[in-house]
Amino acid sequence: MTLHGKTALVTGSTSGIGLGIALCLAKAGANLVLNGFGDSEAALAEVRALGGEVRHHPADMTRPEQIEAMIAYAEAEFGGVDILVNNAGIQHVAPVEAFPVERWDAIIAINLSSAFHTTRLALPGMRERNWGRIINIASAHGLAASAGKSAYVAAKHGLVGLSKSVALETATTGVTCNAICPGWVLTPLVQAQIDERAKVDGDVARARHALLAEKQPSLDFVTPEQLGELALFLCSEAAAQVRGAAWNMDGGWLAQ
Ligand code: NAD
Repeated sequence: MTLHGKTALVTGSTSGIGLGIALCLAKAGANLVLNGFGDSEAALAEVRALGGEVRHHPADMTRPEQIEAMIAYAEAEFGGVDILVNNAGIQHVAPVEAFPVERWDAIIAINLSSAFHTTRLALPGMRERNWGRIINIASAHGLAASAGKSAYVAAKHGLVGLSKSVALETATTGVTCNAICPGWVLTPLVQAQIDERAKVDGDVARARHALLAEKQPSLDFVTPEQLGELALFLCSEAAAQVRGAAWNMDGGWLAQ
């Protein structure tokens, strides 16, 4: 498949899953707009090495006006957003009655509301061109819960719901909208949770195994590259009638 001439915007793509997906789309020929904090130069260099056009926009996904500026930037640089991957996300673990209000608000803003803003802003151009792919990176926690993750679970269930609504609103067009629901992927977001556990388990390797054993029957991590290949499939013509799906890639997590 070739994505030459298409432009992909991947939020939160300076590391982890977002970067893995961006690399896969760039390899298929798409122009890329990266977004996220941290070392954007390293991410830009990795994508550029594949030969495509790539930019970075530093929009903070908690700020609607910055999201508007990012979509306008993508339109000015490349003429529009054809593939929108809503991936930016954060995590905080605490019992609901002790959950910091500021963390709740940040998780809902970054993990859920930002996808509403990017979608409402990018969709008119997709409709005009009668082609588009909106891929929301939800989670196994978009379909099942875990204790201590009320904000994350609420946001990810919301993101699955948003994907279904947008899929229905675009059902007769060339635009599709779907969610991908990963199980554990070894990224900075999960390493932080392993490090927290290691403080109790006393050992990082044991903590990592315990984290997997609790939820993921394969006892192995999903990789950003595997998720990138799934995103690439959702961009293909073969996936033109995959609409409103919540596609889990989770080592068996949700089969239980
Ligand atoms: P990560 O921490 O490696 O990457 C998160 C990205 O989001 C980074 O680029 C970061 O800079 C960016 N980001 C954070 N706050 C932002 C903000 N306010 N504005 C703009 N960018 C911001 O995490 P990851 O594990 O790659 O997670 C990516 C997505 O995948 C998240 O939505 C996460 O919930 C989801 N997910 C992860 C796992 C996993 O096991 N790692 C499993 C299921 C779903």
